[in-house]
Amino acid sequence: IDLQANIELPKDFDAVRAVGASAVGLYRTEFLYMNREQPPDEEEHLETYREVLHALGNTPITIRTLDLGADKQPNGGRRRDGPVTANPALGLRAVRLCLKEQSLFLPQLRAILRASALGPVRLLIPMLSNLQELDQILKIVEAIRAEFCAKAIAFDPKMPIGGMIEVPAAAVCADVFAQHLDFLSIGTNDLIQYTMAIDRVNDEVNYLYDPLHPAVLRLIHRTIEAGEGANRPVAMCGEMAGDPRYVRLLLGLGLREFSVHPAALLEIKRIINSSRVDVLKPMARQALQSRSGAEVYALIDQFN
Ligand code: PEP
Ligand code: MG
Repeated sequence: IDLQANIELPKDFDAVRAVGASAVGLYRTEFLYMNREQPPDEEEHLETYREVLHALGNTPITIRTLDLGADKQPNGGRRRDGPVTANPALGLRAVRLCLKEQSLFLPQLRAILRASALGPVRLLIPMLSNLQELDQILKIVEAIRAEFCAKAIAFDPKMPIGGMIEVPAAAVCADVFAQHLDFLSIGTNDLIQYTMAIDRVNDEVNYLYDPLHPAVLRLIHRTIEAGEGANRPVAMCGEMAGDPRYVRLLLGLGLREFSVHPAALLEIKRIINSSRVDVLKPMARQALQSRSGAEVYALIDQFN
């Protein structure tokens, strides 16, 4: 069982080193775009990734391409004349924004490819909801690779490309995505909000935010099974993976890669090391057949 870390800023590096996480399962890059007028250029991206690779030695780093929009509003990438939308969580964000505003995205993508020549880098695409988006991304990557080959710019042609499963449509069709990706990473923060149809930053409905809702569990389980079927690793990088209450349930559901907040690394490691997967499988099966989150909560309580 693989324990990985979610990081964003240099202050996270020490924790990752101290606990010896096997990889960075999620490196959020939105901070690069915040509090500034102009988005970062290719060299600034590359320099940032070079520093992370250097700080973390040979630890694989999963760099997530920018996930701006909705709860993460940019300055450096603001669409000044952009329309006001009533439901930004359902709007132009993450991969949708990347494909529409390629001037924000291309410098980052090129820098990630260049960084892959400097150390173990993986590319992670957020918010995929259909295969066309993925096809477009893969085409762009192909074009950059061709250009780099022609110009003798170094990159790793085998850099793994993964997708976040955080939209219910992607979870339901995870088997399809798994065939075109090297790995999957379940983003429960968004998967839960979209499955429950609640805005995760809206206080009035966040009582409905329930990681244990059987619908959420079934989508998670389906994604894990899709990965197994296609022989692709499946990680979870949403907060759920780093919550001590849910670790055993996730183990029972078949999750083998946990990517968690650095502060949670030790505790999650302790729980994993004191768990027996064979006992947890039947429990997870029962959870999938439960009628409510409350029922699942009572069930997992006995194992925690
Ligand atoms: C998630 O949605 O679970 C996730 C890890 O991404 P973010 O919280 O950055 O949207
Ligand atoms: Mg997300």
